[in-house]
Amino acid sequence: MPVTVIAAKPAASEVQPEKYRFIVNLTDPVFRGYYHGKKKHDDDMEAMLERARAAGVKSMIITGGSLHESKEAIELAKQLGFYATAGCHPTRSSQFDQFRGGPEKYLEALDQLIAANLTGKGRVVAVGECGLDYDRTHFAPKDVQRRHFRSQLALAKKYHLPLFLHSRAAHQDFVQILRDEGFDKDGGKAVGGNGGVVHSFTGTAEEAAELMDMGFHVSVNGCSLKTADNLAVAKSIRPDKIMLETDAPWCSLTSTHASKAHLTSMPPALNALYFPPATKPESFVYGRPVKGRNEPTAIGGVAWVIHKLNEGIPFEKVTEKAWKNTVEVFGLTELQ
Ligand SMILES: [Zn+2]
Repeated sequence: MPVTVIAAKPAASEVQPEKYRFIVNLTDPVFRGYYHGKKKHDDDMEAMLERARAAGVKSMIITGGSLHESKEAIELAKQLGFYATAGCHPTRSSQFDQFRGGPEKYLEALDQLIAANLTGKGRVVAVGECGLDYDRTHFAPKDVQRRHFRSQLALAKKYHLPLFLHSRAAHQDFVQILRDEGFDKDGGKAVGGNGGVVHSFTGTAEEAAELMDMGFHVSVNGCSLKTADNLAVAKSIRPDKIMLETDAPWCSLTSTHASKAHLTSMPPALNALYFPPATKPESFVYGRPVKGRNEPTAIGGVAWVIHKLNEGIPFEKVTEKAWKNTVEVFGLTELQ
């Protein structure tokens, strides 16, 4: 389960990291030291959370990618005082058909899970991840993905919850289903919907514009900033529609990406908070990040790249805008 972070703590320098607040999306076993089922190092969830707090991460949204994972996300969000999403990722949408009692029962179980967790600590703030992923149809064929993406939209309408959306190489079908189901404008307000965000965006500027015109927000992470084309698209996202995320432990900003050139100008005090020196899993040191595992702290790096792409807009403005959009879309009023 990936995480979305919110933000901060003071540092002695001209930069004031305590001003930069973020929301991220965390239930992956790698934060417990497990990689593909193999224990490589000690559980360092606490240390990771401490680093995140220092980097200005005020809260996180823990995303659920299946019925089972959504339960875990809610449980962890309750323990940590964060937020969760509940839904089924397109790559796991075969679970609907394999479920005992059939797809209707799976949807009903998601429905009941949401209904039971709409208030208080660890509450469900969005339906998702759901959507389409045509890059990975080996996990679930297109028609299966389409069917169960569509069925989950009913939950967003029923509970007036925003959507946490995933769209990969499937834009036409993705927007068609949203339009068919009444999410063609204002994020589906007319049919009971409440907008949402298309996360980890890797599409074109035209696709981003279409989604924004339909009333959705667009969220970027390291995967959205890999190439020069990606950067141009990220730059095109309107300030009132942008969100920032890490998708930790995935989607790191890496040295081979086009984003790298924009990170070199980051003040050392911020760099130390957002990218603390990491060690390999084999030489794990408690309190240090692990190489190759993206962490919520890196949200600051994503924000810095967006700031550099929009020359003239102060870093603080970028982080505040993304914070405000996230708080508003997901209704995180207690964070205001
Ligand atoms: Zn996703």
